[in-house]
Amino acid sequence: MTDCPPRLEKKLVTRLLAWYDQHARVMPWRAIRPQAPNPYHVLLSEAMLQQTQVATVIDYFNRFTEAFPTIDDLAVADEQQVLKLWEGLGYYRRARNLHACARQIVSEHDGVVPNTVEQLLKLPGIGRYTAGAIASIAYDVPAPILDGNVVRVLSRWFAITDSTDEKPVKEQLWALADRLVPDKRAGDFNQAMMDLGAMICTPKSPACLTCPMNKHCQAREQGIEETLPKRTPKNKPTKVTHHVVSIQRKDQFLFTQRPADGLWSNMWQMPTFETVSEKVLPDQIKEQLGLQVGKLKQCQSFKHQTTHRTITFTHWQASNVTGRLRKNAGLWRRLDQLGDLPLAKPQLKVVASLQ
Ligand code: SF4
Repeated sequence: MTDCPPRLEKKLVTRLLAWYDQHARVMPWRAIRPQAPNPYHVLLSEAMLQQTQVATVIDYFNRFTEAFPTIDDLAVADEQQVLKLWEGLGYYRRARNLHACARQIVSEHDGVVPNTVEQLLKLPGIGRYTAGAIASIAYDVPAPILDGNVVRVLSRWFAITDSTDEKPVKEQLWALADRLVPDKRAGDFNQAMMDLGAMICTPKSPACLTCPMNKHCQAREQGIEETLPKRTPKNKPTKVTHHVVSIQRKDQFLFTQRPADGLWSNMWQMPTFETVSEKVLPDQIKEQLGLQVGKLKQCQSFKHQTTHRTITFTHWQASNVTGRLRKNAGLWRRLDQLGDLPLAKPQLKVVASLQ
C-alpha cells in the first residue's frame, strides 16, 4: 500500500484547493461560490461527461436545460425527444439511463437528487465514480472519485508503477482518493483533481514546471512522470463494415429504426447493412424492405471508432427504386424534417453529405 503521511495529505489538499481557487475551469453546470450547486445540473453534466470532452458537452448541456429546466420536465419527456437532444453525443445508453434516473428520482425521492453514495448507486447507470462525483459536487459529501484524470494524477503523485488497469491497483487508488478527499470542500477538491489532470497533469508532456504540486510529486522527483500511469495493453478492436444506402423517393429519403438491443438501440438511420460485400446489398434491400434498386453509386466512406470495433461506413446512393415498402419497415422523410427522429451518430455525417 502506498504510504501517504497525514501531513503530506494535508499539504496536497491545501495546495490543490488554493490552485483551484485561482484556476478552476468555468463550466455552465459549475456553481461559483457562494452560489450553491444545482444537483440536477450536476447529475446531467456527469451523465454527459462520461467518455466525452467538456468542450463537446457544453452545447448539449445548454440545450438540455433549456428543453428540460427541471428534473420533473425531464422525467415526463418523451424518450425520442430526449434521444433527439442527445443526438451526436454518442453512447446513447447514457441518455436512456439519465431519463430513467429522472423518473426514479421524481417517483421515489420527490424530485430531489439523492445526497448519499448508497442511494445514488441505486439509480440506473450510476456507478461508483458518478455517485461520488454527484454526492461531492452537489452536496459536498466527502466521497472519493476516480476517473481517468484522477488515476493519472494519483499514480504520478505517488509514483505507482503497476498497471492501473489491475483490480488491486484500482482499489489502491480508490483508497488513496478516499483518504485525500477532505471533509470540507470535497466537491471542489474532486473537481480540482479533474481540472489539474485536464489542464496541467496531461497524458503527454505534463506541465510539471508550472504545476502547483511539483514539490510533492514522487513521479516528478523520480523523473518518471511521462511513463505513468502504466496500462495493460488492450486487445485490438475488431474491424467491421457497415453499408449505408440512401434510398430516395421524390424529395424524401427512407429511414429505418435500429433494434431495441445493441449499438445505437432504437435510433434511426438510413438503411444500413452490416455485411462485408456490397454485392449482396440489392438482395438484402429487397428482403428487408421490399424494394428493388438499380445500380448503387458509391459515395463517401469514413471510419467510426467504438470501444470494441472500428467500423468503416460506406455510403451508397440507390437509383431506379421500385416496389412497395414493407409494412412498418421504415419512414419516408425530407432531410429538413428529421426533427423527431434521433439519428445514430455516424448517420449524421451521411445525412449532412446529402443536404
Ligand atoms: S508535477 Fe508533473 S507529474 Fe506531478 S502532478 Fe504536477 S504535472 Fe503531474
